[in-house]
Parts: sequence; structure tokens; C-alpha cells
Amino acid sequence: KANRVLKSEDTVIDVKGIKIGGGNFTIMSGPCSVESRDQIIEVAEGVKAAGSQILRGGAFKPRTSPYAFQGLELEGLDLLKEARKITGMPIVTEIMSPSLVDKFVEDVDIIQVGARNMQNFDLLKALGKTQTPVLLKRGMSATIEEWIMSAEYIMSEGNPNVILCERGIRTFEKYTRNTLDLSAVLAVKKLTHLPVIVDPSHATGKRWMVKNLAMAAAAVGADGLMIEVHNDPENALCDGAQSLTPAGFAEVMVDVKKIAELV
Ligand code: PEP
Ligand code: MN
Repeated sequence: KANRVLKSEDTVIDVKGIKIGGGNFTIMSGPCSVESRDQIIEVAEGVKAAGSQILRGGAFKPRTSPYAFQGLELEGLDLLKEARKITGMPIVTEIMSPSLVDKFVEDVDIIQVGARNMQNFDLLKALGKTQTPVLLKRGMSATIEEWIMSAEYIMSEGNPNVILCERGIRTFEKYTRNTLDLSAVLAVKKLTHLPVIVDPSHATGKRWMVKNLAMAAAAVGADGLMIEVHNDPENALCDGAQSLTPAGFAEVMVDVKKIAELV
């Protein structure tokens, strides 16, 4: 169970020696989507040099429009594995179908459940039958209670390795893509013993907001960040407007680390 009353110590998840939770501050970054071999390897090397510990990249993309780029799918997964081999960084990528759970368990280090699938209970239960760490993003209209219950769907099947990710919720505000709910980080850390990270990229949709909100996430005690980085944001196939360049990401990391050290 996720409840802090039943287990007071923080859950610490070990991903190939990288610890998530329990006072560590862990950075996952990379492109929204894997687009090509050159793209993922260039971004992976760039973010690693800037201090990212884990590489993200979407292979199966949950796009609003069926006519938008849907990801390189299995080929994208292979390219991520290649980037892992070259850089040594563990990889996190999103799953959409329960039919691919075995493949993802085999291939990836952290399996991401996106906001749109937060209440895909068959998918959550299938992931609960594995021991692979699951990054569970908050649904865009999910309450804190509903989000925690989705974590319980995974944990109650036997997988205790759940990382929560606040990625902004849908409100009346239109200026930003979503509204980043930093108070949810405090709430979830009080209510549960699970690690909670923040994704300021999807929360805002705006590259220029990412640094300050990443610092704010560190200040409220988040256990880490997920940040989108692209080598050519202007021509990205997905989410370019919120993507930092590797150089921009390196600048963000310098300031974020200062805050994380204070907390
Ligand atoms: C993503 O991380 O690329 C993504 C689709 O995020 P979310 O599920 O939070 O929208
Ligand atoms: Mn994205």
C-alpha cells in the first residue's frame, strides 16, 4: 500500500544503481519522441553531459489527433536501447497497451504510464504483476485521491515500485498548456511514501517557464524532474515549444542543483 501511515520511511527505487526517492534528486530527460538514431543519440549524450541520470523518449505516442506522428513504435524502442548502450543511462518510455507489457519489461528500465492512461485499470493491473518500476503520471483531470488509487492498482497486484509524476492538470487557465499543481507534491508526499517527480515541460507547454518551475519543484521537495530536451526543437515532431536544447537544459541543471542541495 502507498499509505504513509502504514510505512513511514520513503520508498527508494533503485534503477540500475540510480536511486529515486528518499532524499535523492533524480533527473530524467530527453525528447518527447524518439525520431531517429542521430536525434536520440545526440540528445542522450547532451543530457548526460549536463547531469541527467535517466533518458526519456517516447516510442509509442498518445497523440490527441490520429493524424499526428504516432511514434516510431518498436523501432523507437530499439533506438532507445541503443542510446542506453552508448551512454549507460537507464531508459524510461511510455506504454499504451497491456499487450506490450512483456516486451517493455524485457526492454526498458522504467515503464511510463501517461496522463491519458492513468485510469486504464487493465494496464495498471498488468504492470502490477511485474517488478519493473512504473512512472505513473497524474491524469489531467485526476484528483490526488484518484491518482493515489491508480498507484494502488499497481501495488495491490504485487509491484511496489511506483514513482508518481505531477505533470499539470487541466483548469480554466489557457495561457499554459496545463496548470502545474506543486501543492500536490506536498500532499502526495504527506499521504504516501512513494517518490514524486515533477514534469514542468508538459505542465506549461512553454520552454521559457521550465527552469523556474523546475527550481520550484526542487524547492517543494520533489524527488526529481522529467524534462523534455530536443536537439532541434523548432523541427521536433512533437512538443517542440516546450523542449529545451541540450545547452538550455545544461543551464537549467546548474540552478536546479543549487535549490535541490538546499532542500
Ligand atoms: C510524455 O511524457 O511525452 C507525455 C505524453 O506526457 P503526459 O502523459 O503527461 O501528457
Ligand atoms: Mn511530450
